[in-house]
Amino acid sequence: MAQSASASSKSSKQEASASTDGRVAAPARSAPQKAMDKLGLVRDIDLALHLPLRYEDETRLTLLRDARDGQTVQIEGVVSDNRIEARGRRQLIVRLDDGTGEVLLRFLNFYGSQQKSWAPGVRLRVRGELRHGFWGREMVHPTVRIVSGNTPLASSLTPVYPTSAGLPQAYLRKAVASALTRAPLEELIPPELLPGRWPRLREALDFLHHPSPEVSLLALEDHSHPAWQRLKFEELLAQQVSQMKARAERAHLKAPVLSATPQGLRDRLLGVLPFELTGAQRKVCEEIALDLHKPQPMHRLLQGDVGSGKTVVAALAAAVAMDAGWQCALMAPTEILAEQHFRKLVGWLEPLGIKVAWLTGSLKAKAKREQIAAVASGEAQLVVGTHAVIQDQVTFARLGLALIDEQHRFGVAQRLQLRRKLESSELEPHLLMMSATPIPRTLAMTYLADLEVSTIDELPPGRTPIVTKVFADTRRPEVIERIRDEVARGRQVYWVCPLIDETEDSDQAADEAAGRASNSRPPLDLSNVTQTHQELGESLAGFGVGLLHGRLPAAEKADVMARFASGELSVLVATTVIEVGVDVPNASLMVIEHAERFGLSQLHQLRGRVGRGAVASVCVLLYASPLSDSGKQRLKAMAETTDGFEIARRDLEIRGPGEFMGSRQSGAALLRFADLNEDQGLVARARQVAETMLRDHPDAAQRHVARWLGQKSEYLKA
Ligand code: ADP
Ligand code: MG
Repeated sequence: MAQSASASSKSSKQEASASTDGRVAAPARSAPQKAMDKLGLVRDIDLALHLPLRYEDETRLTLLRDARDGQTVQIEGVVSDNRIEARGRRQLIVRLDDGTGEVLLRFLNFYGSQQKSWAPGVRLRVRGELRHGFWGREMVHPTVRIVSGNTPLASSLTPVYPTSAGLPQAYLRKAVASALTRAPLEELIPPELLPGRWPRLREALDFLHHPSPEVSLLALEDHSHPAWQRLKFEELLAQQVSQMKARAERAHLKAPVLSATPQGLRDRLLGVLPFELTGAQRKVCEEIALDLHKPQPMHRLLQGDVGSGKTVVAALAAAVAMDAGWQCALMAPTEILAEQHFRKLVGWLEPLGIKVAWLTGSLKAKAKREQIAAVASGEAQLVVGTHAVIQDQVTFARLGLALIDEQHRFGVAQRLQLRRKLESSELEPHLLMMSATPIPRTLAMTYLADLEVSTIDELPPGRTPIVTKVFADTRRPEVIERIRDEVARGRQVYWVCPLIDETEDSDQAADEAAGRASNSRPPLDLSNVTQTHQELGESLAGFGVGLLHGRLPAAEKADVMARFASGELSVLVATTVIEVGVDVPNASLMVIEHAERFGLSQLHQLRGRVGRGAVASVCVLLYASPLSDSGKQRLKAMAETTDGFEIARRDLEIRGPGEFMGSRQSGAALLRFADLNEDQGLVARARQVAETMLRDHPDAAQRHVARWLGQKSEYLKA
């Protein structure tokens, strides 16, 4: 880290000496500069690595006579007329003549000054899509330049960069071009580790920013050109190196050596469980036991499909740590989920003499103080809660093992906070993360090179497969009849509604982190879920129909859940707050309304709430037409498979890896150029080269990471 800090301050010094716009001396930033900061375009190297999305060809002119409608072309001509058309929508219309034909330029947004400067007789070079309009050929909002008869044409293709509001292309182009001349781009990867046909980094960048017009646009745009290969490889290498370093750093950390003793707490817990572990559960328990027995902190991801039984595996690991006198913490992303864990663990462990503390943001001050005191004194051996568990006021007497459920659903801020918490003790605690979203292998290799992965690949016996049906929402009355049958037979039903903007997890987490009261959150549109609740209440008179959503007070949520769990409520109308962890084996039917609005892995998680008992379960996906293509693909995938790995694979296919990993939410665009589906070969090569560089050229490896990731490398560790 120290090295990367010095590398970036070095580059900003270079920037200071080279900068002529006074930007370093005067801290006031212009709007485009601020927009660049936001995009992470801070150092010269950041700009140099900000690659075009596509290109425009301004190297040649097309004669109107030769241009086809629908073509995007650059033409040059003389203004013959201009006027403001006031009928209908106000617009500026400029008539341009290039000697072989005429075209109308239409501007719906314009300044009065533009009408003046684009006066008859002025020569314009314009670029846009030619189409056939009402009054003949036209271009709507072309780019316009005033030229003289001998203004030269561009000599290379014009880059079009990813940008954001307040940052015009022209500004960004200039900033990138000048940063490119200053950025330190010396070769850091020893040439013998690269294929000979790849260009050097500087050449690759010069080329990608300003390619010559002869090059195949296709090779540029599908990223198969060797210059692109080089850049993608660089990016993957940075990621591999930073993760291998993190892993190596961890090897120097010390953690308590833990092992189960015969007849100890672990064995006693196994003795009171109402079921036998599956083979898969036993296998992952072994893997975890080996880690706990090492003097370095465990850093393991436990993945297993919804309902595969991760909680008991976590509890068994905790039993080992607690038996040796260490404390454990179990953290879940939502209060509902945390509470499920709390109940289950209290049920299993309190009879064995373990005191379990409970910590969430919604606790009253006094109760919170008591719980925190019990954790600080060591009186509570286990604490369960939301991320309130890692808040600053919480100190552990002897934390030996941290368990994080659905860890990817925590925001970056919380993950960094967790790291700080873990690092604050002299011996680092072991860390076990759990996820029901299986991560495909290439993704795991790329993003999670720093994690060991254990997989539960078998469901407990006695589960009956879920049948999934996809219906248009016009069949809603029929579905309600079906619900009536089900509840009349004593079964229970979930009805899930989407909530525009239901962001319970992250909102609540952010609020709790900022110490804000949860009622300061903006109002949500709850009309869908409350209307459905009312409707079902009326059509199913005589049966208990409950309502659950993220904005209910915690006590009410808990009450509704308890009444559903006890069977007092037959139907639970809920938003996605039930997505994770809710466990009512008697529930045999789930209806998901507006299923087309949910993501695939979310649908899979939701569906996992049924099919937990011995009765055959059904999941009905109601959709509103028309379906988008990806909506269709998602629903089709749901109907075709219940296998979490297959779902994850398709999800990756539909959404792409960036989205999949929630990198937007994390604020770090982790992979910008490489595509894990297409570039699997590059991933494997990057892994090898990363190993070699760390061994033989550690300084260059470190500089490579700093160059590529800069401040983002912190996020990667989170
Ligand atoms: P998830 O992996 O989705 O977190 P849970 O840990 O909540 O799954 O387990 C789902 C349900 O299966 C729980 O009711 C749990 O007690 C039960 N369960 C776990 N392991 C077994 C097993 N080996 N045999 C039978 N039931 C089990
Ligand atoms: Mg779980």
